[in-house]
Amino acid sequence: MQPAAHAAKFDTPVAERFRSFGKSIFAEMTALAAAHKAVNLSQGFPDFDGPAIAREAAIAALNAGHSQYARMIGVPALNQAIARRWARAGRGEIDPEAHVTVTAGCSEAIGAALVGLLNPGDEVIIFEPYFDFYTACAAMAGAVPRVVTLHPPAAGGQAMGGRAVPAGSSSSAPAHFWFDESQLRAAFTPRTRAIIINTPHNPTGKVFSRAELELIATLCQQHNVVAISDEVYEHLTFDAAQPHISIATLPGMWERTITLSSLGKTFSLTGWKVGWSIAPPALTACVRAAHQFMVFSGSTPMQHGAIAVLDSGDEYIAGLKELYAANRDMLSDTLRQCGLTVFPSYSTYFLMADHTALGYESDRAFCEHLTKSVGVAAIPPSVFYLTSGMGKDLVRFAFCKKAETMREACDRLKRGLTR
Ligand code: GLN
Repeated sequence: MQPAAHAAKFDTPVAERFRSFGKSIFAEMTALAAAHKAVNLSQGFPDFDGPAIAREAAIAALNAGHSQYARMIGVPALNQAIARRWARAGRGEIDPEAHVTVTAGCSEAIGAALVGLLNPGDEVIIFEPYFDFYTACAAMAGAVPRVVTLHPPAAGGQAMGGRAVPAGSSSSAPAHFWFDESQLRAAFTPRTRAIIINTPHNPTGKVFSRAELELIATLCQQHNVVAISDEVYEHLTFDAAQPHISIATLPGMWERTITLSSLGKTFSLTGWKVGWSIAPPALTACVRAAHQFMVFSGSTPMQHGAIAVLDSGDEYIAGLKELYAANRDMLSDTLRQCGLTVFPSYSTYFLMADHTALGYESDRAFCEHLTKSVGVAAIPPSVFYLTSGMGKDLVRFAFCKKAETMREACDRLKRGLTR
């Protein structure tokens, strides 16, 4: 009797704050892909290595005895390299000690920013579909998410007239995921403490336009709200007409923005877990307050590897963008041939498509079929929405793979999906 009662009481020992999240979709789909030997276009990670210069520097650091804790805010030369990169991108001079904090990947930076800034009951605005960390880390902070929906562009590639904040001013502006200005305005309440911006945007491949960022900036200033800007895909843009803009560089925004980025996407080193935050001292204090008690510091040898690549990696990035743009085009063409509606991806290494023409009842059903029977794994995006029912028509594919991997995936899609 005693054990049974005990068992019932501790049936679900997971803390309530995590219960609604279940298992991460990335872990779930990657495991399913492995089990069915599917080409894994679900979780976004490259199937090739990052620049040799980074690896060699990390190995040298290991051999040189850099195996103890790094400084809590980062190995000094890495803070300096991050500050130099920020300046080289034309974003201004920053202080590596006062403004830069090195974290265990951008994932930890997201957690540290939210947990370090938000009090229980504070509201945080999040655009859906979103990277799942945002809502989970908001829950860790006891904060309440308020969502603003990004809507797919109309089929046929037309820009939505009227309702969207225009990317350019003309109606020939490229089709992109858009949000309703009035929904954004209504999301700001007296309890709003922060808004999370993710540009370039995972999972849609959207790059937020200057007009959109200016609207967000104006609302942040009117309502005294902090912008937390996740920019990990900042270098993976494919369309010169849609450049990446850091919201911290807009007038009045430096003082109220925490910018987050990392090494992982830019240099194909997702497993290194080297990320950072850039923010004015008052907001840096929030990030560090949490960071010191989450991990204390990031991995020391990996930070040394990062130093080596941050100043010298531009050629690598150029090659990567070429590969990803070609992969995106090949995958988009294939999916269209298979009957899906493909939404344009201007950045990141993801694209979204609508699968409804193929007759599956949900994104989960479609992704399961894809993984188990077609041999290609993808992500069911409904997990990226808080609004119930949204995302069921969609599927997200990652295209951060070797050309030959993408060709194999496309062959399988053609064989498995075209009748
Ligand atoms: N950012 C990656 C993606 O969206 C996955 C990150 C993770 O596995 N947590 O696919």
